[in-house]
Amino acid sequence: MSPLKDYARKRRFDRTPEPPGKIAARSKHRFVIQKHRASALHYDFRLEADGVLKSWAVPKGPSLNPADKRLAMEVEDHPVEYGTFEGVIPEGEYGGGTVMLWDNGTYEADVDDVGKALRAGELRFSLDGKKLHGSWVLVRTGGRKWLLMKRTDAAASKTVDITTEKPRSVTTRRLLAGIARDGGGNVAKAATGDP
Ligand code: MN
Repeated sequence: MSPLKDYARKRRFDRTPEPPGKIAARSKHRFVIQKHRASALHYDFRLEADGVLKSWAVPKGPSLNPADKRLAMEVEDHPVEYGTFEGVIPEGEYGGGTVMLWDNGTYEADVDDVGKALRAGELRFSLDGKKLHGSWVLVRTGGRKWLLMKRTDAAASKTVDITTEKPRSVTTRRLLAGIARDGGGNVAKAATGDP
């Protein structure tokens, strides 16, 4: 049922100058995935919601195969500004290592209240990124443990390994080793995260 059904039923738009209107698209918010060669390689998956970046660390990174359930450990909210960070975190500091902007773009949730869906432990959304597209779901399995899964659609693939086929920065085209080199980081350690 259309949420504007009552509005439309009461009006004859061929006789009134009022707008017939349409349901506004759910607002699009940013998402970013940062490939992070810290003590262990992982992909930081971040969705803008409630004025911050809701964040998960995904050790294996996203998979386009709907059969894959990728562990996503919920981590602390990050500021929205973090979503453009690429560079080197000094060794000895929290998360020390190399950070790459692996993908970014916008997402559209299947619900209006993303924060509420996350508190309830399940969010379905579609991504409009440079590398990732289509429908995805995050499901909490307990505590801070979630699963990130591709949902079946035209953007799904059982054969494409997106993390190895698209290993470069979405903004600078650099590999982790190049980012480490340019930022005075540990190039050898960073390179272990490159294909
Ligand atoms: Mn991280």
